[in-house]
Amino acid sequence: MTTSPADAAGGRSLLAVDAARAAILDSLVPVAGWERVPVRTVLGRVLAEDIIAPYNVPAHDNSAMDGYAVRAQDLTAGAETRLAVVGTAFAGRPFSGIVGPGQAVRIMTGASIPQGADTIVVQEVARREHEQVFIPPGQKLGQNLRHAGEDLAEGSVALAAGSLCGPAEIGLVASLGIAEVAVHRRLRVAILSTGDEIASIGRPLGPGEVYDSNRYTLFGALSRLGCELIDMGVVPDRPEALEAAFRDAAQAADVVITSGGVSVGEADFIREMMTRLGEVAFWKLAIKPGRPMAFGRIGDAVLFGLPGNPVAVMVTFYQFVQDALLKLMGVSPLPPAAHFPVRADFALRKQPGRVEYLRGRLQRGADGLAVTLAGAQGSGVLRSMSEADCFIVLPDDCTAVLAGDIVHVQPFHGLV
Ligand code: AMP
Ligand code: MG
Repeated sequence: MTTSPADAAGGRSLLAVDAARAAILDSLVPVAGWERVPVRTVLGRVLAEDIIAPYNVPAHDNSAMDGYAVRAQDLTAGAETRLAVVGTAFAGRPFSGIVGPGQAVRIMTGASIPQGADTIVVQEVARREHEQVFIPPGQKLGQNLRHAGEDLAEGSVALAAGSLCGPAEIGLVASLGIAEVAVHRRLRVAILSTGDEIASIGRPLGPGEVYDSNRYTLFGALSRLGCELIDMGVVPDRPEALEAAFRDAAQAADVVITSGGVSVGEADFIREMMTRLGEVAFWKLAIKPGRPMAFGRIGDAVLFGLPGNPVAVMVTFYQFVQDALLKLMGVSPLPPAAHFPVRADFALRKQPGRVEYLRGRLQRGADGLAVTLAGAQGSGVLRSMSEADCFIVLPDDCTAVLAGDIVHVQPFHGLV
């Protein structure tokens, strides 16, 4: 399932980022299982069925403006028209009569269009004198009307299965009067860190130890995706300990995400163990940071073996794992990666042959948006991620960036 050209070549050639992404996504299908939940709880959940509009939204033709509901045929083309005001239509309190020849009804925004009327004249241009209103020439039949079903037509698909619910989707469901929706069950994801030198927080550091940060960045990233987390802690570089942890994780979770232990030198016994437990490929990716990565299956669980360096973990998570999780969660179609060109406010040289993900900060200057480097770019410098608001993506054939060049950035945060 996951053998790649890079694997077959004994690790000599690098696997392209796009090929790895495609191989991962192609091998995954959404998890089965769904539940019916109240609309207020669906933020970040994925619809398991189409939401069909049970009626038109809006339900009735209504006024887009405060003004007067009139009959266009009553209006004189080249001169002012005088009409008799026979009543008022409020939002939620319609005018119950019929607008006859020579008549108008005062109308508020959102109020149903009274029978007989076909046009709204905004109050700013109308001149009111007691029970009469004077309408200037130049009005158009049907103006300032919102039509029934303009937002959603009865029977149409308001939201398709596979939609990821944000604030707009929650509002849309509520606008249809629907209180509960069917969503895919939450994805269960187990996380563990590997390494004899990795210490859990809460105790002093021993010589040569570093605190575990990867499980915490993954905790944040996975919480944001609404996953159910199974925290397996830190596992030392001992085959029996790792094997037991992997078996437990794979049994409990849909997805197992590890960090560390997949680089050359460390990989050998892990590789041997994983081939025994399941079907896992060890890739050398044409990416910086994050060259080594393992991907495959242990039992029924999908395994991502991310590199150990904290920035490499985040880069590989966002470039490979997040979309894979969204697909498993049932999101369809996957949102397109947002990239946009912007002017570089820095210069650097680069080795060709790998796509490089630098950490950048967007800045608004005199001649538009520009991007600068967010601090030191080492793959262990997590501060660069915290200071950054975008990845600067340099393609594999790029060998240098000069100040003023156009580079592509991938913003960290979506707007909605
Ligand atoms: P590895 O891929 O296991 O060789 O790890 C590469 C580098 O990342 C080493 O310097 C590790 O100490 C560091 N590292 C590995 N796992 C973690 C972790 N969970 N938290 C912080 N640093 C880590
Ligand atoms: Mg290690």
